[in-house]
Amino acid sequence: MAVPASFHDDLRRIVGPAHVLTGIECGPYVVEGRTPEAVVAPGSKEDIVAILMAAGEAGVPVTPWGGGTTMAVGSPPSRLGLVLLLGRLNRLVEHEPGDLTATVEAGMTVRTLQETLGRRGQWLSLDPPHPDRASIGGVLSANVAGPRRHLYGGCRDLLIGLTVVTAEGAIVKGGSKVVKNVAGYDLPKLFIGAFGTLGVIVEATLKLRPRPDADRVVVSRFERLKDAGAAARAVMASDLLPSALELIDGEAVRALALGPSEGAVLLVGVDGITEQVDWQCREIERLLEPMGLREAKVLDGPERDRLWQSRGTVGRDAFAETAATMRWTVLPSQVAECMEQGAAVAQRAGLGAAMAAHAGVGLVDAALGGGADVDLDRVAAVLGEWRALVRGAGGHAIVQWAPLAVKERVPVWDEAGPALRIMARIKAQLDPRGVLNPGRVMGGI
Ligand SMILES: Cc1cc2nc3c(=O)[nH]c(=O)nc-3n(C[C@H](O)[C@H](O)[C@H](O)COP(=O)(O)OP(=O)(O)OC[C@H]3O[C@@H](n4cnc5c(N)ncnc54)[C@H](O)[C@@H]3O)c2cc1C
Repeated sequence: MAVPASFHDDLRRIVGPAHVLTGIECGPYVVEGRTPEAVVAPGSKEDIVAILMAAGEAGVPVTPWGGGTTMAVGSPPSRLGLVLLLGRLNRLVEHEPGDLTATVEAGMTVRTLQETLGRRGQWLSLDPPHPDRASIGGVLSANVAGPRRHLYGGCRDLLIGLTVVTAEGAIVKGGSKVVKNVAGYDLPKLFIGAFGTLGVIVEATLKLRPRPDADRVVVSRFERLKDAGAAARAVMASDLLPSALELIDGEAVRALALGPSEGAVLLVGVDGITEQVDWQCREIERLLEPMGLREAKVLDGPERDRLWQSRGTVGRDAFAETAATMRWTVLPSQVAECMEQGAAVAQRAGLGAAMAAHAGVGLVDAALGGGADVDLDRVAAVLGEWRALVRGAGGHAIVQWAPLAVKERVPVWDEAGPALRIMARIKAQLDPRGVLNPGRVMGGI
């Protein structure tokens, strides 16, 4: 789309010429093959207000960009005009160790936040993939969590306050630093998982926790996925309090370098006071012993960190050439069975599959292996069958990553039902001109 030259002048006036990129400089900000007309890096929320107002008047769509790690996840924006880089908004505004809260600007990376909080013995109990690149604003907008969501909850549970700039240039603050903080509609949570379609997150206030004394993971190997699934359910039903519960199938075991691609592995994370953690590790082994456990080992330190890091990206990294990844949400009791049936669907189509699940939460990352000459119709057909399988089990499935040609064959988002009408109305109220990330979420909103 053509952007009026005066719009570029407006941007330079707002943020200074050094913070506006045009032409070939926009190369690193291509989204699904589309190059933006301009890239702008605001230095304050007031800059963002001015940019969004100018964009609204010029009819230029705006795509917020944190670390850029999920730009190819989900649907691409239907129109790409201006990329709004949040990286300069990266300050820790306030940290109150006594109150266990921190207010942080949206462009700060998760790693920087964790390192800063760690110096005061605290952390944000969220472990999304790519912490070195993922920004707080992007994580909240994509509603990403990691294995520790099992015990500590996800973005919505940890957020207590939010400042956003709406498409029409209003600075809206919701919630506050106190934990009981919402009267009326819980507006801040509306922006979680909205993929930047409702407003630009500029600041978030988050609940923190003290860093645990000990943090380990029990790696338990089973001959059959079915047994590992039953073991996961036994851990959930026990009085143990794991921080993470991950079910890994044979192909994902290989991708995580946990052994050959056979059987299955259950990862049980435990953190807290050292004596408690020691006790829990022993109890886990004792509980799983009669359930087909072949071997168990406990990882700590860098080995544990490496495992959790590679777990975060196992979907895309499972195969030398991953053809597509999908995220399923099912009941925890259905996880192992869905994984088994899903692998059989892929096998019948002659494709490799690797699956890893946050078993206690019911979230499965399913990846399909391909190659340069993989038949895209076949990939799309497997994704369609996976979706039918997951819906049959009462869940839903989202195509997380796939080449555009596959996304054109199979819908990225699952059906939202009558909720879609309400979502479309909320979008129309908050962004009447359709400036923010048009087309990025379900139903082309
Ligand atoms: C290889 C790979 C594997 C991954 N695996 C997983 C996984 O297993 N599980 C999982 O949950 N996630 C996974 N992710 C997702 C990814 O880690 C997170 O979504 C990411 O951390 C988001 O942060 P970001 O700063 O990169 O966001 P971006 O990619 O920059 O942005 C994400 C979305 O939010 C919008 N946005 C960004 N900043 C703001 C803001 N300040 N205000 C409003 N909107 C904004 C953008 O427009 C975009 O729609 C994976 C990603 C990759 C690339």
